[in-house]
Amino acid sequence: MKILVINAGSSSLKYQLMDPDSGNVFAKGLCERIGIDGKFTYKANGQTIIDAADCPMPTHKEAIEAVLSALVDPKNGVIGSMDEIDAVGHRVLHGGAKFTESCLVDDACKDAIRECIPLGPLHNPANLMGIEACQKVMPTKPQVAVFDTAFHMTMPAEAYTYAIPYEYYEKDQVRRYGFHGTSHRYIAQRALAILGRTENPEGTKIINCHLGNGSSLCAIKDGKCVDTTMGLGPLAGIPMGTRCGDIDATIMEYLMGRYGYDIKEMMTILNKKSGVLGISGVSSDFRDLEKAEAEGNERAHLALEKFFYEVRKAIGAYAAAMGGVDAIVFTAGVGENGVSNRARVMKGLEFLGAKLDPERNNTRGKEALISTDDSKVKVFVIPTNEELMIAKDTQALAK
Ligand code: ADP
Repeated sequence: MKILVINAGSSSLKYQLMDPDSGNVFAKGLCERIGIDGKFTYKANGQTIIDAADCPMPTHKEAIEAVLSALVDPKNGVIGSMDEIDAVGHRVLHGGAKFTESCLVDDACKDAIRECIPLGPLHNPANLMGIEACQKVMPTKPQVAVFDTAFHMTMPAEAYTYAIPYEYYEKDQVRRYGFHGTSHRYIAQRALAILGRTENPEGTKIINCHLGNGSSLCAIKDGKCVDTTMGLGPLAGIPMGTRCGDIDATIMEYLMGRYGYDIKEMMTILNKKSGVLGISGVSSDFRDLEKAEAEGNERAHLALEKFFYEVRKAIGAYAAAMGGVDAIVFTAGVGENGVSNRARVMKGLEFLGAKLDPERNNTRGKEALISTDDSKVKVFVIPTNEELMIAKDTQALAK
């Protein structure tokens, strides 16, 4: 089976053609600057075949057409014709509380995604554009929507309720939703498989640390999400590359009063100019921060320390929330590759019974146990694979 996985942003579209059973990726790439001047990349069998600027793609429809023509190209394509694509899976950011799992795209599903636009104003419209572009270009193919929020819908009310007037939950759906759900779900499945608990997840307690540009932690009890750090939107939780994470809401009133910012300017500061970039003034990239820190940059050092402190604190909080922890997992760009980052997060968590093995921890980008044999809590690196999860859901629903 061949599934086309699409992740559409407002001016970009990531794609992968993959086999959901083997995980084999036939081709992948990125359409960027859609509606501007257009940039198109296409990689097949691990090699970059097209990397071209000035490829005008006025809308997502032309972007999908460019993807399909590359896939079926007689010389560099990986399929003979579009008939070989069985179905299309779409990453959708916000499914509100409506979607507890992935769904086959029909008019009702599209309406529900549209209804969630106020909750995901930056992403949901773009995700819909991706879906509608595929419907236009491939009208007969089943399309599936996979939501970033769905895995978190098992959270209990005390985890998802905000302590503001309850009417805002009842009337306006203000609550914690959480994101990176597809990644957390993939990790939950892999971790349970490694622990030999796929068939009997009851009683397992896993904390997953998805640490990338955007970062979130998830407390997974009995294989289900019971809490996560992101909230109504992806700005909440631990500090990120450029996002502030949890802050005192008073800060907004104070700064808006002092500088006359309107709410849009304030949100831009919190979304794009904060996090480790905001503290360090150096970069949102953890490699740059480590380099600057090694050169004696104190704010880069502070930014890193703040980040590790908040991750460590969230791990402690989730161990408390679940009444213990069996496994801690690191994933995404920083979690999979940041050897010293992992060590610095784990420093001080020995009281939980989690002991990192420095040699085992010296690993990048592959599944590994990185705790010592006598560590009560197992610590793993597990590379995430959201695309595979999307492809598997798509396969199951398109059947
Ligand atoms: P996104 O959230 O955009 O998907 P990724 O999961 O790809 O992001 O993570 C990107 C982050 O991973 C960047 O901040 C980058 O610095 C970090 N990263 C990548 N490789 C390393 C490494 N070897 N050491 C530390 N951080 C790394």
